[in-house]
Amino acid sequence: MTIVHTLGFPRIGAKRELKQALEQYWRGEIDTATLEARARTLRLRHWQLQHEAGARHLPCGDFSLYDHVLDTALRFGAVPESHTALLAEHRLRGLFALARGHQDARHDLRALEMTKWFDTNYHYLVPELRAGQSFRLEPDDLLGVFHEARAAGFQARPVVLGPVSFLKLAKTIDGSPALELLDALLPHYAALFSALHEAGAEWLQLDEPWLATDLDHATERAFTHAFSALAGVPRPKVLLASYFGPLRENRALALDSGFEALHLDLVRGGEDLEPVLAALPDGMILSAGLNDGRNVWRSDLDGLLATARRIADVIGRERLWLAPSCSLLHVPIDLATETRLDPELRSWLAFARQKIEELALLATALDDPQTAGPALAAQRAVIEGRRRSSRVHRPEVAERLRQHAAGDLAVRAPYAERQSLQRERLGLPPFPTTTIGSFPQTSGVREVRAAWRAGKLDDDQYQATIRKHIAACVREQEAIGLDVLVHGEFERNDMVEYFAEQLEGFAFTRHGWVQSYGSRCVKPPIIWGDVWRPRPMTVDWSRHAQSLTSRPMKGMLTGPVTMLHWSFVRDDVPRQRTALQIALALRGEVADLAAAGLPIVQIDEPALREGLPLRRSDRADYLEWAVEAFRITAAGAGDAVQVHTHMCYSEFNDIIEAVAAMDADVVSIETSRSRMALLDAFVRFRYPNQIGPGVYDIHSPRIPSEAEMLELLERACAVIPAAQLWVNPDCGLKTRDWPETREALTRMVGAARQLRSRLPAAAAEPVEATP
Ligand code: GLN
Ligand code: ZN
Repeated sequence: MTIVHTLGFPRIGAKRELKQALEQYWRGEIDTATLEARARTLRLRHWQLQHEAGARHLPCGDFSLYDHVLDTALRFGAVPESHTALLAEHRLRGLFALARGHQDARHDLRALEMTKWFDTNYHYLVPELRAGQSFRLEPDDLLGVFHEARAAGFQARPVVLGPVSFLKLAKTIDGSPALELLDALLPHYAALFSALHEAGAEWLQLDEPWLATDLDHATERAFTHAFSALAGVPRPKVLLASYFGPLRENRALALDSGFEALHLDLVRGGEDLEPVLAALPDGMILSAGLNDGRNVWRSDLDGLLATARRIADVIGRERLWLAPSCSLLHVPIDLATETRLDPELRSWLAFARQKIEELALLATALDDPQTAGPALAAQRAVIEGRRRSSRVHRPEVAERLRQHAAGDLAVRAPYAERQSLQRERLGLPPFPTTTIGSFPQTSGVREVRAAWRAGKLDDDQYQATIRKHIAACVREQEAIGLDVLVHGEFERNDMVEYFAEQLEGFAFTRHGWVQSYGSRCVKPPIIWGDVWRPRPMTVDWSRHAQSLTSRPMKGMLTGPVTMLHWSFVRDDVPRQRTALQIALALRGEVADLAAAGLPIVQIDEPALREGLPLRRSDRADYLEWAVEAFRITAAGAGDAVQVHTHMCYSEFNDIIEAVAAMDADVVSIETSRSRMALLDAFVRFRYPNQIGPGVYDIHSPRIPSEAEMLELLERACAVIPAAQLWVNPDCGLKTRDWPETREALTRMVGAARQLRSRLPAAAAEPVEATP
């Protein structure tokens, strides 16, 4: 029987049980034992579910209480000195301190930096290493879950993030190359392999997704060295897993690894298949990642079956395993709970469970074609139905795209011209202070939205209540002394869903949660058809907010690229066509905000970078259409309305030119977790417009002092002309509470005032920003 397996499964739980447990634990409502018991229940349930759906080799150790990269760091004792005392005292508290920061009478600990896991919307914690450090193996957590799975009767395969990917994903605090630590690290990997072997693991899964990226020579050598060192130790059989893209020129590295099985992502890396088939070493098993672990569409099983047959013909059925392209972490768990979705749309979808069922059906089709026939025919009908559906394609959207192609909708006046218009209109002091948009989403705010959605509040009552929240928020901001205000985003549950609900072409699940980081989840909308905007979406709220204050108010939108990346995107047209459709829809909204008198519009693009293809050769094309989509949206503002954008990640160096090409008047970026390291990008490249480097980390409950923020700003001043600098937090404040928000922003405004007071009187006049 052909083996079906998965590389990983969602952790959060169909009802976000892990989120609830974690948050209760952090609030001190449940103890460590209870949290661990709940985690165990989830793991068992998920193995059970995968088994029922037809998977036979089940991953273990893919589950995590917070993040698997953090788990790996802990497993090898790779943690900053500052955290070791707390870790020794209470391991779990230490783990969460690394993830979220921790302040009490005895400790004041920073969280690790957080960044995106490859090109996904999952965030991992960046391990902090230093030259010459040592490692120490702590295998108990992994051995524990392995025994747990086995005791429950499952064929469990421990998942281990490989040493090279681990080091490449880490950073060093002294700037030394992390790969230099490989030799110190490998003996501990070897010891882990042996420990798993002794514990009775038949297989282990070694994840090396870094194989799907461009490798320099040092990294290539590191792979060769690591594989040969590890292949030779007493160990279980190893499934080497690469995903998120083709191996391309790294194929030989994987094929020569000396391991027993290789997993390929054939959704994104289909080009690898034939070359790999031609060169697969004798006896090596090929795990074919056939259906998409990162999207929610049902597969064309005829196509996949042809691929599976092709593989079986070349290497034999007994050497073929079937799997999703990557871990299922990136899709919701089970479509069965979506009882209210439009039935036709629902028939087009597959979540984690359905993906495994698809593979099980393919396995049956390989082994016993007769039995699989009717189910294959049923799926064929569904796929055909979607291809032909008249609900998907809208003539008026096609017409709008044609207009765009005919004239350039992306043009604004040059920055210098816009800047003088805007400066006059806004009259801001140097180092203007602002926030990124959202203010605390208190339970009160959430209840109002829930009550309105449930029909317990009518539209008028709802409007009046939200307006009260907006008014209170405006007063707070004035009292704190901020220069550019926001309305607070109280009407939004989620920055993508809010807009998607008002645009045509999007659909929504009720339980389709996907982990973003730790306990934070998102419920990505599904773009299933052409996108357009039937009516204004935010104008009433923003106009009202501006009417409450004489200070400039920002209209707040989510940008087209982020709308795209944080949704499940249709797979029947190229992504850039959908991006263009969204951009044209949002452009209308920007124009409406400008017409309503908003002097500033912020178009958030926090996801621009995560869509960046992993391979350099694929990037220019992506950046071109992504920048174009942003500019089309921004151009709706005209020249006198200042356009801001916001991005939250700290790896800027490789896209800085594209950020400049977006030509927003002001860009605010996340910097505080990386202690302004990303400003390096701006040293090398003279960013022409204005910049707000975030001065404090909103992901952590820790509030830095005014002096700390001032120090970050001073660093920024060293590389960016003062006249270009804005002062703002890293990101929106919706997850924080009011007392800490008030305190943090007051300190931030204090830091900005200190800076201003140091400017010579002449420079206090706004000066020309462009050098
Ligand atoms: N304007 C949004 C907010 O403040 C931006 C969120 C984000 O960057 N992810 O919540
Ligand atoms: Zn942000």
